[in-house]
Amino acid sequence: MNRIAIIGAGAAGCFAAQRLRELCPYLHVEIFEAQDRPLKKVAVTGGGRCNLTNSFQLVSDLRHVYPRGHQLMKRLMYSWSQWDTMSWFEEQGVRLVTQDDECVFPQSQRAMEIVSTLKRGLDIRCGCRQTLEGLEGYDAIIVTTGGARNFEWLERHGVEIVAPVPSLFPFKLAPSGLEQLSGALVTDSVASLGGTNFRAEGTTLITHNGVSGPCILRLSSYAARHLAEVAYQAPLVMNWLGGATMDEALQMLQDMAQENAQKLVCNTHPQELTSRHWEFLVSRAGIGREMRWSGVGRKQMNRLANVLTCDEYQITGRVPHKEEFVTAGGVSLKNIDSNTLECKNRPGLYFAGEVLDVDGVTGGFNLQAAWTMADAVARAIAERFSNQQR
Ligand SMILES: Cc1cc2nc3c(=O)[nH]c(=O)nc-3n(C[C@H](O)[C@H](O)[C@H](O)COP(=O)(O)OP(=O)(O)OC[C@H]3O[C@@H](n4cnc5c(N)ncnc54)[C@H](O)[C@@H]3O)c2cc1C
Repeated sequence: MNRIAIIGAGAAGCFAAQRLRELCPYLHVEIFEAQDRPLKKVAVTGGGRCNLTNSFQLVSDLRHVYPRGHQLMKRLMYSWSQWDTMSWFEEQGVRLVTQDDECVFPQSQRAMEIVSTLKRGLDIRCGCRQTLEGLEGYDAIIVTTGGARNFEWLERHGVEIVAPVPSLFPFKLAPSGLEQLSGALVTDSVASLGGTNFRAEGTTLITHNGVSGPCILRLSSYAARHLAEVAYQAPLVMNWLGGATMDEALQMLQDMAQENAQKLVCNTHPQELTSRHWEFLVSRAGIGREMRWSGVGRKQMNRLANVLTCDEYQITGRVPHKEEFVTAGGVSLKNIDSNTLECKNRPGLYFAGEVLDVDGVTGGFNLQAAWTMADAVARAIAERFSNQQR
């Protein structure tokens, strides 16, 4: 009987084992897990609710959700898409719900339901930190060790590594007064890094020491490597009016001035912004609390339009994110067969999941990547050993 070793009982490792059981039941599959129980990370995903995939209905280009590995994901998702993920879990008895933002969760809102489904019937040896040494008797090895800092144990076997850096984190900002708005959400914002093309849209959450929320987490993902290179010191430019240009903002302000000539500027806010946020931006533009719209000069109008669309802050650091945090980098895709995820210079050695240089933004895309890659490896191994059986 052919023996398969899987190193790491996380999302990718357990799913690869489940798919192998379905595709090739006569294989003997053993999973080695360093921790005292499998799937510890999956248990805390999505704040304990597990956002296991996404409908992808709002995704026009995979580049936007997989800053690293979008081409590989495009290829592999022909074989295992988000719909396959949903069908698979539903066939296992897990009822799913798709939220308005297209994120998919178990209807029970319990990540533990996903954990118990994934580990059902598997042979997992916990408390066993495995390397490639000692697995010589196995016919194939699948490495699914997730995001890590230490890849020396793979490098010494000739596996090429792209230096790992964190992705998906909030920004710490130099004090500017913005922090006084802690807890405020700006639903239609655009954040960019000054002097670069990195840019993301969506909701921004103002925190006690900086900014977070889907827009900022996306930007941190797009610019993960750049931000690591500049030691998390960079100018952050906020457009608080979504994609509005300076001219559009000016037009909006002129209309507001006309309609509200005798009112105080700080009391008449555009519907996109809360009154507190507006008051802060007005004072940031140098317009006093007592100023009426009729008294706002051309220069002040320009300054306010600039603050609304091109408001600059200084990033001074990275806040480790409790909710979702992934590693960019890992095993380089250069030496990996893009159909089978087998190492080109070490036949029989396969990789799947976050250990590879593939990562996504928040919204269920990282787990979808784990399921898709695990399926690709399982299919490749099943095909290889079923050919041998014939
Ligand atoms: C708090 C948090 C919340 C998240 N929420 C979501 C979410 O809602 N949706 C989403 O899509 N993504 C989410 N993610 C990201 C997602 O969890 C990961 O991308 C995904 O778990 C990666 O799967 P994996 O199997 O590659 O790695 P993991 O799930 O991390 O599994 C790797 C396993 O390998 C084991 N291991 C490591 N080294 C060894 C070794 N040498 N020997 C044996 N075992 C080893 C580890 O102990 C671990 O169990 C979240 C991440 C975090 C941290």
